[in-house]
Amino acid sequence: MIKVTLITGDGIGPEIAEAARRCIDATGVAIQWETAEAGVDVMARLGTPLPEATIESVKKNGVALKAPITTPVGTGFRSINVYLRQSLDLYVCLRPCKSYKGVRSKYQDIDLVIVRENTEDLYAGIEYAKGQGETLELIDWLNKHSKRKIRPDAGISIKPISVTATDRIVRFAFDYARKNGRKKVTSVHKANIMKFSDGLWLEVSRQVAKDYPDIEFEDRIVDNMCMQLVQKPELYDVLVLPNLYGDIVSDLCAGLVGGLGLAPGANIGEKGATFEATHGSAPKYKGLNKVNPTALILSGVLMLRHLGKISEADRLENAVAAVIAEGRKVTYDLKENRDDPTAVGTSEMADAIIEHL
Ligand code: NAD
Repeated sequence: MIKVTLITGDGIGPEIAEAARRCIDATGVAIQWETAEAGVDVMARLGTPLPEATIESVKKNGVALKAPITTPVGTGFRSINVYLRQSLDLYVCLRPCKSYKGVRSKYQDIDLVIVRENTEDLYAGIEYAKGQGETLELIDWLNKHSKRKIRPDAGISIKPISVTATDRIVRFAFDYARKNGRKKVTSVHKANIMKFSDGLWLEVSRQVAKDYPDIEFEDRIVDNMCMQLVQKPELYDVLVLPNLYGDIVSDLCAGLVGGLGLAPGANIGEKGATFEATHGSAPKYKGLNKVNPTALILSGVLMLRHLGKISEADRLENAVAAVIAEGRKVTYDLKENRDDPTAVGTSEMADAIIEHL
C-alpha cells in the first residue's frame, strides 16, 4: 500500500480532488490516502491556513496530491505553496505541455516539458526597498565597487544563480529525458547580458550535458526561445530554465495547448514531491460541480509515473485523452460553445474517464 497525502484545498479544490482520487484509484494502484486540510476554510476553524498536521503528513509520506488553495491576501499568513516548497526543498517545477485532440487551440501536436528551477533567481526573495537604510548602504557599496552607478531612489532585487542549484536542475532535466524517452534538452538563458548569473547557468548546463551523450543538447537565449516556441514549437522537447524564465515560458506553453484548465504540474525534490494543477481555486465555481478536473487528474498521472506505476499512468492519460477527443462527456470549458447544455459536471467527467480505463 502506498501512502499519499491528499490536500483537498478550498474553492473548487475538494470537488476536483475527489474526482482525481476516484480516477487514480480506478487504475488499480493501491493507495492509502491520508486526507489533509489546508486553505481558507480550515483557517476559519483553526486560525491557520496550513495546520502542522498537514505539513507533517506530507513530510512523512513524501508524496502529496494537492488541490488548489486560495492565497489569503493581507493576513500575514505564510504562503502555503512557498512554505511546502521550501520546507521539503522541492527544487524542480515540472510542467508537461501536451496537445490533446479535441481541445480548441491554435496549435496541434505540441509535446513539450518545462523543467523550472524552483529555489533561486529573482524569486529567492532577497529584496531591498527603495529608501531604506540597508538599501542605501548596499547602493553605496555597489557604487564604490562598480563602474555602473545605481540611483539612490532605486529598489533592488537580487538574482542568485549557483553552481549547486544549476547542476541539480539540469541533471534532473537530462535524467527525466532519459527515463521518458525524450531526445533533446534545451537550456534557456540570457547569458549574453547577465554573464555571471545566466553565464554560469549556461556553463554548468554545458558541463552537465557532457555526462549525457545519448541526449542532444542545445541552448537558446530566452527572447529568441519565446519567438521560436510560437513559430516552431515542434522543434523542442525538454526545456530547462532558471526560475523567472521558467515561470513565464511555462504559461506561454500552457497557452499553446489550450490553457491552464489542462495544465498539470509537479514540485519535486529529494525528500518528496507534490503534484498539483497549474490553475487556482476558482472560488466563484465552488460547490457547483462545474469545473474541469483534467489538470489535477493529469497531475495524478505525473504522480503515478513518479511512483513507478508507468502502465497505470499511461492508461489514465489515455482515458483522459479519449474522453476529451470524443467531446461528449466533458465540462463546459471543453465544449465548442461554453453555454452548451450537454456539458457534464466535474464528477460526471471523472465517471466517463473511469469508464474508459
Ligand atoms: P483561477 O485559476 O482560480 O481561476 C481563474 C479562472 O480560470 C476561473 O474563474 C475559471 O474561469 C477558470 N478556471 C480555473 N480553473 C478551472 C477549471 N478547472 N475548469 C474550468 N475553468 C477553470 O485563478 P484566480 O482566480 O486568479 O485565483 C483564485 C485563487 O487561487 C487565488 O487566491 C490564487 O492565489 C489561488 N491560486 C492557487 C494556486 C495553487 O494552489 N496552486 C495556483 C494559482 C492560484
